[in-house]
Amino acid sequence: MNPAVIMPTYARSDLAFVRGEGAYLYDAAGRHYLDFCSGIAVNVLGHAHPHLVHTIKEQADKLWHCSNLYHIPGQERLAERLVKASFADMAFFCNSGAEAVECALKMARKYHHAVGQPERFRVVVMENAFHGRTLATVSAGGQEKHVKGFEPLVDGFDRVPFGNTEAVRSAIGPQTAAILVEPIQSEGGIRVAPPGYLSELRALADEHDILLVFDEVQSGLCRTGHTFAYEWFRSVPDVIALAKGLGGGFPIGCCLATARAAQGMTIGTHASTFGGNPLGMAVGNAVLDVLLAEGFTRAILHTSRLLTAALGQIVQTYPGILVEVRGLGLMLGLRCSISNTVLCDRLQRTGLLTAVSGDNVVRLLPPLIIGENEIEEAIDIIDRTCKQLTDEYDHNV
Ligand SMILES: *Cc1c(COP(=O)(O)O)cnc(C)c1O
Repeated sequence: MNPAVIMPTYARSDLAFVRGEGAYLYDAAGRHYLDFCSGIAVNVLGHAHPHLVHTIKEQADKLWHCSNLYHIPGQERLAERLVKASFADMAFFCNSGAEAVECALKMARKYHHAVGQPERFRVVVMENAFHGRTLATVSAGGQEKHVKGFEPLVDGFDRVPFGNTEAVRSAIGPQTAAILVEPIQSEGGIRVAPPGYLSELRALADEHDILLVFDEVQSGLCRTGHTFAYEWFRSVPDVIALAKGLGGGFPIGCCLATARAAQGMTIGTHASTFGGNPLGMAVGNAVLDVLLAEGFTRAILHTSRLLTAALGQIVQTYPGILVEVRGLGLMLGLRCSISNTVLCDRLQRTGLLTAVSGDNVVRLLPPLIIGENEIEEAIDIIDRTCKQLTDEYDHNV
């Protein structure tokens, strides 16, 4: 291996995997790891899911790519299914979360252009937000470590504290085009929108004729136990950005919108070479075959209750290590009283993969197909790791 040929933008662990099956990843030595990271909420059906493997092989024999200069039946089918499962009327397909958010931002400007208010281009965004790594989306996210040295940023973002409706109200002015918010802040530390907040934002958006945009790149596609996280909050957006889980590991992004919000997106206004190509769309449709099947979300809610309850017990048992468990469905965070990176490293050494995020949180984002055995195993690893860490910390005082 020659890691020097890769730009050193990632803090990587020493592990390298050669194979995956279900909720497990295997390294070259054959050691297995229980994957509660899922490629950051991507492998919703785990690894090497038979239906996805079969579908991509079959499609690979027929047609991988053709341009959006032509009709792509699989794209129309995936759009139709996403529209039917959501508030939306139409979809635009791209290849990543950042591009899906970028499409939403462009759409917000274009909407106001189309309705004769071109002065409206600003977007109210939240503190501790994350929307991707393109220039516009780091500008929207605004985190110091993501923007430093990349200035000048894209203009037009007004940042307010997450969860504070009055702050949003005050930030809305004659140039405001949209409100952009994650129903659950993911990189920000699995912070769930407080009760009433998202419906208050809906009312504000209606009052000012601006668009309400939800970034569901991480929380969408059944991650929270509903098809979309907004269903938890009884607040319906005009636009949502999707990506991570949609391709189950194949890079697919998607922006869903009402026809009203998308009215400016006419011929020639936006495009993506790879977006919505036949190979990707075949996989996306196969992912939806499982996610939209009767009873799938109900099973996730059941799994979530078991996992959350067991984690709650562990938090009580090890107050010197953990502060709380939070999140919805299988998008869970353990807020730590020790360093989250220390806990994450130690869990990994004991065979459980997790991901850190802001606010000193260790994220648990298992494949949505896990069952009671995987939960038991994960809980056993977390319990043993916390016990060991407690012993070490006690020993050191
Ligand atoms: C991961 C993520 C993104 C960015 O997605 P990429 O595919 O990395 O561009 C945007 N928003 C949220 C909420 C995310 O979790």
